[in-house]
This record gives sequence, structure tokens and C-alpha cells, in this order.
Amino acid sequence: MDLNLTPAEQEFRQQIRGWFAENLPHEWKMAQVRKLSEDDAAATLRKWQLKLGEAGWLGLSWPREYGGRGGTLMEQAIYLTEGHHADAPLPLDWVGLRLLGPTLMDVGTPEQRARYLNRIVTGQMVWCQGFSEPNAGSDLAGLHTRAVLEGDHYVANGHKIWSTTAQYADWCMLLARTNPEVPKHKGITMFAVDMQSPGITVRPIKQIGGTSEFNEIFFENVRIPRDNIIGGAENGWSVAMRALTYERGLYTMINQAKYRTSWEEMAEYARRTRRRGRPMIEDPRVREQLAQSYADIELMRLTNLRYISRYQRGVQPAEESSLMKLHWSMTEQRLYDLGMTLGGPKALAMTGSPAALCDGSWNNYYFASRSVTIYGGTQDIQRNLIAERIYGLPR
Ligand SMILES: Cc1cc2nc3c(=O)[nH]c(=O)nc-3n(C[C@H](O)[C@H](O)[C@H](O)COP(=O)(O)OP(=O)(O)OC[C@H]3O[C@@H](n4cnc5c(N)ncnc54)[C@H](O)[C@@H]3O)c2cc1C
Repeated sequence: MDLNLTPAEQEFRQQIRGWFAENLPHEWKMAQVRKLSEDDAAATLRKWQLKLGEAGWLGLSWPREYGGRGGTLMEQAIYLTEGHHADAPLPLDWVGLRLLGPTLMDVGTPEQRARYLNRIVTGQMVWCQGFSEPNAGSDLAGLHTRAVLEGDHYVANGHKIWSTTAQYADWCMLLARTNPEVPKHKGITMFAVDMQSPGITVRPIKQIGGTSEFNEIFFENVRIPRDNIIGGAENGWSVAMRALTYERGLYTMINQAKYRTSWEEMAEYARRTRRRGRPMIEDPRVREQLAQSYADIELMRLTNLRYISRYQRGVQPAEESSLMKLHWSMTEQRLYDLGMTLGGPKALAMTGSPAALCDGSWNNYYFASRSVTIYGGTQDIQRNLIAERIYGLPR
């Protein structure tokens, strides 16, 4: 495989670079959005997502028949990298774009594709993911939310937790138990649920930093039309695993550009900052950690390219997405631990403080990196999947 960009890809990179320069207002850049209240930030991201949708960038690698541009995954990777360099925020609707959309293309009915895909790809919807429950996280198949068929509707009751952006979501991809009589993996169904339905209460979870990234969702006799089932009744487990595969795999492309920028900032900081009378870059421990992170990020880049190459040859993402998720989560934590080591007390200064390093981004990313080994399936669960499904080890 030739790892260099083709002339057409280089031209595409110039095109997208120019688009960001002309269309991303200064006040919508990530550095500015970070300073806003949570509600204002969400409103800004919605406006930005509509603009991206109008320009056709949200569905860059989606097939044309679903409103996409029919671009390659390599173009998608270039777009994400350039967006990062332009300090562009990501759209608010990551669930619709990254999880539900591709899943509907695989298993949705023609009516569902017509109903949702065009609105997702033009930035008009925000979806949330209603999978986890207080007693069903890693053991997702143990979920208790029930949906009972009554005529043309299912009636759902239950309690979901850790649902990201649910307070701003228009729709939810919900997992509920529709048959309690069969083994737990077999009695689950996935639904598309309108968040305006009577009986839904969203309660934001206040985090230690004062924000509410995620929410509890309570379902009380919520009526869901029967044709909102995604991927067939009692087939929810396999549909959810498919959606999670998309979540684990494609994330890495975006993150790699972010890590590279932070790594370069850290190396530069280590070069120009003196500790105990000499430049930090001369400290063998700092050099070792920088080298480790450099290798981690480079490995991620090459793994992404392999993934793109395989995907373009028609191989669907599968177990390898667990490997990517595991590697990316370890890379992120090691890198931002290094930021803390380098910055010392200064690394604790947050965005908005004059003492903040790199506008507080290392600090932000360090705290965010605590969650990366949990969401989308924990690190332990990824290790189990790799052991069982890639190496064929016993359960
Ligand atoms: C930032 C963030 C965003 C999230 N967003 C969403 C969202 O939008 N929607 C949603 O539905 N959920 C979301 N989640 C929830 C996430 O999916 C769960 O937190 C995750 O699946 C783990 O479940 P749990 O928290 O119940 O932990 P548990 O499952 O209780 O796990 C506790 C610990 O035990 C370990 N463990 C559990 N089982 C095993 C096993 N079989 N083998 C080895 N170790 C094991 C785990 O690795 C972990 O260390 C989010 C979580 C985070 C952190």
C-alpha cells in the first residue's frame, strides 16, 4: 500500500483547508467554544453542524443514495485532520452520524432510511444513545428497561444512565427488553425514540467540574410506534454490537490528529522549559515518555491506514475495532499524563486562566482522558474481546 496522499487527495486537502478558513467563524472555534456555558456551547455546535451539513461535509463518506458525498474514508480522514488543525469543533450529533447512520444503512428499513438519514446528514437532528443502565454497563445484556407490545405501539418503562448529550437530543437509540422469557442476549430490541414523547424525563448528571456531559433518562409508559424498531424485534443485541463497532473504530481517526498536535506542543515545551537548571528535554525520563507517545501515535496512524485500506477493499470493521479502541485509550492516557508531568503545577490551570498551558487544552484533555478507558466498552471488556475473538482463547 502507498501511504502517501495521491495528487487528488492533496487537492482535496487544499479544498477543505480553504473551506474551513472561509467558513469557520472565530467565535465558533474550539478555543472559544470551551469558554462558553454548556447550553451556549451546545447551541453553537448545532449551528456549526447545520453549516457543515449544508456544505455536505457531514456525510462526506456516506453513499450518495443516502445524501452523502460518496467520498472515500481517506478523504474522511483528511477532512477530520484538517478540521482539527482549523480548531473546528465536532458536530453535536456524533451518535446519529457515527453510530446510528451507518447502522441504519446496514439494517434499517427503507422507510427508516428515508425518514432519518437525510436529516442526520444535513445536521438537522441530534441523537443520544440509551444503552447503559445503573446495573447494566459492561454487562449490557443484563438491561432491565422493558418495552411491551400493546397494539401498534410498544410501551417502555425503565431507567438509562450516562447518556451523553441527551439533554439536547431530539431522538434516542434505545435498547429495551421485549422478551424476558428467552436468554438475556436474545430478548432485546433497539428502537428509535422521539425524545419529545410524553413520559420521558432527562436528568443531567452534575460532574465535579460543574458541567453535565451525560444524563439519566427515565421512561415512564412511553409509547413507541412499532415501526420504530431498528434491525428487527429481539435482534437488538446484534444491532447494538454493530453500532458499537462503528463507535470504537472510527473515533481513532479524529483523535490521532489531536494527539499529534498535543505531542508537538509538549515536545516544544520540553525544549524551551528548564527544570533544575537544564532543559527538560534532556531529562532521560521525559525523553523516554515523549518517545513512547510518539511511537503510540505513529502506530495509531498506521493502524488507521490499514483500517481504511481494508474498508476500501470491502472488509467491514469487526474485532479489530477493539484493538483500535484499546490502543487509542492507552495512547491518550499516556500522552496527557505526560502533559501533567511536564507542566507540573501549571498543568492544573484551566482554560481561561492566564497560567493555562496551551489554552488549558492539556488540562481539559487530561481530565477527559480518564473516561476514555470506560466509554464505548471498558478497557477490560476490549481485552476480553481481543482474547476471545482474535486469539480464540477460552472465555
Ligand atoms: C464519557 C462517557 C460517555 C458515555 N456515554 C454513554 C452514552 O451516551 N450512552 C450510554 O448508554 N452509555 C454511555 N456511557 C456508559 C458506558 O458505556 C459505561 O460506563 C461502560 O459500558 C461501563 O459500564 P459501567 O460504568 O456500568 O461499569 P461496570 O460494567 O460496572 O464495570 C466496572 C469495572 O468492572 C470491569 N468489568 C466489568 N465486567 C468485566 C468483565 N467481564 N471482565 C473484566 N472486567 C470487567 C470494568 O472494566 C470496570 O473496570 C458513557 C460513559 C462515559 C465514561
